[in-house]
Order: sequence, then C-alpha cells, then structure tokens
Amino acid sequence: MTATETKTSAPHAADAPHLANPDLYPSFTKGVFLGEIREDLVFPFPALRDEDAESLRMILDTFRDWAAENVDSSKLDHDAKFPEHVLKGMGELGMMGVNIPEEYGGFGAGAQVFSRVFGQVGETNASLAVLFGAHQSIGCKGITLFGSDDQKQRWLPGCASGETIAAFCLTEPGSGSDAQAMTTMAIPSADGSSYTLTGTKIWISNAGYAGLFTVFAKVPVKQADGTTKQRVTAFIVNAKAKGISLGKPEEKMGIKASDTRTVTFDNVIVPTADRLGEVGQGFKFALEILNSGRLGLAAGSSRGARRIMHEALVYAKQREQFGRSIGSFEMIQQKIAVNAAETYAADSAWMLTAGMVDRGGIDYSLETAACKVFASELAFRASNDALQIAGGIGYSKEYPYEQSVRDSRINLIFEGTNEILRALIALSALQQPGERLKALGKAFKDPLHSLGAIGSYVAGRAKRQITKPSFSKVHAALEDEASLVAGEIHDLALAVEGVLLKFGKDIIEKQFIQLRLANAAIDIFLAVAVLSRTTWEIERAGSVEAATPELDCARVFIPAAMRRARRNIRALRINQDKRLKDIAERAVESGQLAPETPTDR
Ligand SMILES: Cc1cc2nc3c(=O)[nH]c(=O)nc-3n(C[C@H](O)[C@H](O)[C@H](O)COP(=O)(O)OP(=O)(O)OC[C@H]3O[C@@H](n4cnc5c(N)ncnc54)[C@H](O)[C@@H]3O)c2cc1C
Repeated sequence: MTATETKTSAPHAADAPHLANPDLYPSFTKGVFLGEIREDLVFPFPALRDEDAESLRMILDTFRDWAAENVDSSKLDHDAKFPEHVLKGMGELGMMGVNIPEEYGGFGAGAQVFSRVFGQVGETNASLAVLFGAHQSIGCKGITLFGSDDQKQRWLPGCASGETIAAFCLTEPGSGSDAQAMTTMAIPSADGSSYTLTGTKIWISNAGYAGLFTVFAKVPVKQADGTTKQRVTAFIVNAKAKGISLGKPEEKMGIKASDTRTVTFDNVIVPTADRLGEVGQGFKFALEILNSGRLGLAAGSSRGARRIMHEALVYAKQREQFGRSIGSFEMIQQKIAVNAAETYAADSAWMLTAGMVDRGGIDYSLETAACKVFASELAFRASNDALQIAGGIGYSKEYPYEQSVRDSRINLIFEGTNEILRALIALSALQQPGERLKALGKAFKDPLHSLGAIGSYVAGRAKRQITKPSFSKVHAALEDEASLVAGEIHDLALAVEGVLLKFGKDIIEKQFIQLRLANAAIDIFLAVAVLSRTTWEIERAGSVEAATPELDCARVFIPAAMRRARRNIRALRINQDKRLKDIAERAVESGQLAPETPTDR
C-alpha cells in the first residue's frame, strides 16, 4: 500500500443502520410533503414506561440536589471556566454516561430519558449543557453508534465515568456549514497500521479538558481509473497524542464557562484500530450524530425558556406599577401566554421525536431539525421577553436575564445553523415529490408504455385535490384544530407540487421558497406534536376539563402556527422575491444597506 488507500477494508464492522431510506424508514414530515398524515408515526404520544419514569426521577432529583450546591451560573459566567469540583462532580454523579450503554459503564438511557436529563442540565446552566452535550450527544456518540466492540470497550467506560471527556471536531476555518469542504487530511501508512492526521479544527467545545476527539478528516483513496478521491472518514483520537496543540480559550458572548478552542493536528499518528467504520463513511456518521444531537439541544433550549420565564413570572407577580402587579397588564400577559403555549409545543415536539428515536425504524432527521430550530429560537425569544418583563433590572448583570439572552444565542448557530437546517428540511422533504414528478415526466415522454404510471398519478393527484387528509386519532375536543392542521398539510402538498413544476431542479437555488416550505413544515410538525400530546393528556387526566391548562396551550398554539403556515404557503405564489433579491444583491455588492438617509446625501 502507498500513501493512498487502494481499498476500504476495515479492521472492524460498523453496521449501524442509516436513515434516509424512505422504503425502510418512513418519515412523518416527508409524508406531509406528499399530503399524507402518517398517524401511526405520531400516535399514541410516547409515554415513558414506568421503569424509565422511575429512573428519570431519580437522576433528576440527584442532579438537582447536586446542582443547587455546586452550580452558580453567574459565577460560571464571570469566571468563564468550570471549577474542578463541577467537572469532577458531573462524572461522579454519572451524568457523563447517561446515554452510554450499561455494558460500557453508562446508564444506557434512551432518547426520551436522555433528552429530559439534557433539558434539566440546560435549565440549570447553558455552559454545563454544552459540556454535557458536546461530550455524549456528539463527542463520543459516534463510538456508541458506529464503534466496533473493541473501540467501545477501550473508550466508552472512561467516557461514562467522566474521566475521559469527549469533543467533536468537524468545523474548520474554511468549512463551517459546508463541512464537506474540510481540508484536514488523514494519510494512511504504507503498512496500513495507522493514519497521519494533519489539519486545524476550530470552535471545538470541551477542547481544553478533552481526553478524546472524534475527528473528521479526508483520506485519499485511489480509484480504478488512477485518479484519487478524498473520502471523509471519522477517527477517534487520543487527546494526549503527540502533535496535538490547543489554542487559547475563545472569548465568547455567552456560554462562557464552556471551553471552546482551536485544535491543531500536526502529523498526529492515529492507529487504524481507532478509525470509526469504513473509509468514506465519515460524513454520513457526522450527519447521523448531529441528527440525534439536535434533540438534546432542543430539550435543553425548551427547558431553558421555561426557567428564564419562571424568573420573569416571579418578578411579574411581585413588581407593582400604577398600583398593580405588572403581571396583571395584558401586554405582559401576552408575552407570558405566548411563551407558555410555545414551550408546551416545543416540549411536545422533542418528546414525540425522542419517542420515534426510541421506537426505531423511523427516519426522524427532519423532526430533530424542526425541534432544534423551533426550540432554539423560542429560548432566545423567551430570554428576550423575560428581560423585557423585568424592565431595567433585566439589563443588569445582577439578574439572570441578560446572561440568558447571551447564553441562548448560540443554539441558533451550532449543530447546524438554523438556515442550514431549514434548507435540509425543505430539500430533503422535496426529494420524494420531486422523484414522483420526474417519473411522471419520463412517463409522458413514452405515454403508450406508461399508461399505468400516468393513470395512477392522475388518480392520486385528483384524489389529493378533492380529499384533504384527516386525523382519526385526535381527541374530539381538538376537532377544529385537527381540521386546521389537516387543511394546511393538504395545501402544503399541493403547493409543493406547484413549486416543483415551476422551478424543477432550480429549487435547490430558491432559498426564499425553501425557507417558507421549511417554516410551514416546522409549524405543522409542532402542531401535530401538540395534537398528539394533548390527546394523550386528556385521556390521562380523565376528562377534558381536567386537561384545561394543556388544552388552552394547544388552542393558542395550533391556530397561530397554522396562520403562519398559511401565510408561508400563500407566499410561495404571491411574494416579492424578485425585489428581495435585488435589494440584497445591491446591498452586498455596495456594502450599503438601505438608500442613503437624505440628510447624509
Ligand atoms: C461556541 C461554539 C461552539 C461550537 N462547538 C463546536 C464543536 O464542538 N464542534 C464543531 O465541529 N463545531 C463547533 N462549532 C462550530 C459551529 O458548528 C459552526 O460555527 C456552524 O456550523 C457554522 O459554521 P460557520 O461558523 O463557519 O458559519 P458559516 O458556515 O460561514 O455561515 C455563516 C452564515 O451563513 C449561513 N450560511 C452558510 N451556508 C449557507 C447556505 N448554503 N444557505 C444559507 N445560509 C448559509 C449560515 O447559516 C450563517 O448564518 C461551535 C461554534 C461555536 C460558536
């Protein structure tokens, strides 16, 4: 063997299942783009099994008690680092191994329990949530999902005990959202026993105390025609290996105690035994790790929104102006009620999606993205609203509001920016309807031999136009809301066909359109999650009246979300996109945002 690999033989197998196979793994949101309501994927709402509920309570209680004694958020923000006892304590509590399988020393929690624990850590402190998440949601998740037994044996027990903290190294100076453009290289040795890793990764959370890095790098692979292809591959890298150097901790806007640094790999020798899976599987692994990672981030954001609004609620009750508590003014109540309904929706969505992950056999990639986008934006909005409710003190460092605004901002950026996730939702969900239309296009080219295909398409199309899909499992108390959601699913599917016929393959460049499709899809999924959860809540409570708080949230959230969806769907046809584009292009080209102020001409 030379410096390039000629084959992709691996010392171990990594046969973990992959999503994105619509035949094997159905997706609720992809179905929505076809006008289908796959109720089997979203009903019944996934209640925790009794034994899971019991374990969860135990973990939450233990963590809460420990955090009350040991975690001082404003001190973490001020000192911009974790004290030793916090890092150690997280390990000793077993918090660093919550989702690591039991046989490797972890707790073995499924997605439902893990996400709720993540939520509690997020509620406690955002930096701590990054430590927790960068470690097991993404840092060592690749080993859990795709590692060989030998790799799991060697690495996971240390990760589970917290002795080895993990970090996830994907981003580089020249490749952020466009991760495939990475330039870090892993050159195989002549005898195939190791790789030499060289490159720079930036913005690496947990870097300062990491014991292992999951690193993505390109391996040159010789092709049959003599050319060489660079194939993204994942490696487990011992952080103590020779040739690794760390930059200074980044000075950030928020999550200050989280350690974020540049990690440079200079001819680092990585044994082939520490390659994850096969050469060329790295990018797929990265996507899959991030798919599940986003769910924890959504739960953390949603619980974070709840916590900061709790501070605002206490203040709103006690602060008096004009002789009454400010919580009695409707402009303050509006902020409280909207955040309550949206937090209810965000919780419903991550819980429903976590249930899909635990059930298996479902493609949840678009749902985790929807959860992350919605919850991260909610947490930022809620922090801002809470700060506004607190008035002047909201702006003071003595109170938690300004820190919450700063801390929550990152969630819109990492683990896939919300722009990239919206594009992912729209373009992935367009794939199947696009293929159907393409097949139809081919059929029309040879109509005599394709009467069956054309006939079934026309029949399906006509049916879709006449009959809107409907829900059969929603509680009768939510009949109107269910009908609204079904109506928007129907309209979205018809609109999808319209944009595909209009733009064809060019849809890839039409981000104004993708944005609206994704926003409609996110609102629809959240509304469906609320329908599913509220149906379950009513049944659990035993009567509609007993579930009034849940029903009120559902009846506020769903009509508002469906109004937004309707506006987005309508704007697919009637919009100012040409002008938006002209304005933006002029601005970027000239560097001047708006026409000059007349006083300054
Ligand atoms: C505090 C912090 C911690 C982090 N931790 C980690 C970590 O542990 N591991 C790791 O690997 N990375 C980490 N990151 C990196 C993070 O994932 C990236 O910052 C993120 O993916 C965006 O990449 P970028 O910063 O290069 O922005 P860019 O990709 O340059 O994007 C800039 C802007 O352009 C938009 N944009 C880019 N491409 C498109 C497109 N095609 N369509 C529409 N809009 C587009 C983006 O949405 C964004 O708004 C961290 C970042 C921060 C700030």
